[in-house]
Amino acid sequence: DEANAITAKIWFDGQLIDADSPRAPLTTHAMHYGSGVFEGIRSYATVDGGAAVFRLPEHLARMRAGADLLGIDFDIAQATSATLAVLRANRHRDAYIRPLTWCGTGSIGLDVAPLSKHLMVATFAIGVHLAGGRVKLGVSSWRRNPATSLPPLKLCGAYVNSILAKHEAMARGFDEALFVDAQGDVVECTGANVFMVRDDRVVAVDHPDALPGITRDSLIALTGAQSRTVSLEELRDADEVFVCGTAAEVTPIDSLDGRTYADSDVGREAARLYRRVVTGADARYRDWLTDV
Ligand code: PMP
Repeated sequence: DEANAITAKIWFDGQLIDADSPRAPLTTHAMHYGSGVFEGIRSYATVDGGAAVFRLPEHLARMRAGADLLGIDFDIAQATSATLAVLRANRHRDAYIRPLTWCGTGSIGLDVAPLSKHLMVATFAIGVHLAGGRVKLGVSSWRRNPATSLPPLKLCGAYVNSILAKHEAMARGFDEALFVDAQGDVVECTGANVFMVRDDRVVAVDHPDALPGITRDSLIALTGAQSRTVSLEELRDADEVFVCGTAAEVTPIDSLDGRTYADSDVGREAARLYRRVVTGADARYRDWLTDV
């Protein structure tokens, strides 16, 4: 798992250092208030024998949007070279990449202007993930952070909402939680966006409180899925459901609150297409890859 896969080097404020050497001060603002922004990015071993990062500019642009909100200067060019440097230093090809920028020390008040700001990039080697593990979803009793209170970006503190939903889902015997809004419309999962297939049409769930997923965007391009609002009722009656995200890739859903879906044929085909794209086998999407 990720904790065990922690690697030799981490990029931290301009240098490659041993992964276990930095010690953030206990007064680190982000630890007290969640004042940081992170990304989850994947690199893949490519069919030509190299390695490439999938849609790196899009991930870093989203990270910058979060950093801008928090008043953290975020240099995309620096984060790009940091990402490539740490992948190379760790000799990682199939990896999960975790950049994090955060407010450090200098004050314990809520004004972040006087605080030090930091950037790190860690990479975790991961085995090739084969979509196949079917996931049991349960509707969460928690509401997703509404976008009017907390914009759907990868702000550290926002993830407490996901943690609560995940915790509840697992305590009830599910693998993952599905957020539904007060009107009964589907939002997303704790770390993945939702797709369904109905009447042979692929639909990407659209919701203002959901993170605009980069995998979701990619799958819309690959499958021609229609992006629209979906009610929980509609999702329950769907022919198949799958979820997607950088870490989840394309994962078929086994059941929702115990109601079982058909084997995910469209989901499996989407997973196969996605894998061809991220590994550079599909030349049409080669410009989504940044070579390491
Ligand atoms: N929703 C949430 C809440 C997430 O954390 C993620 C993972 N970043 C996603 C959706 C999927 O987004 P992406 O495809 O960009 O990884």
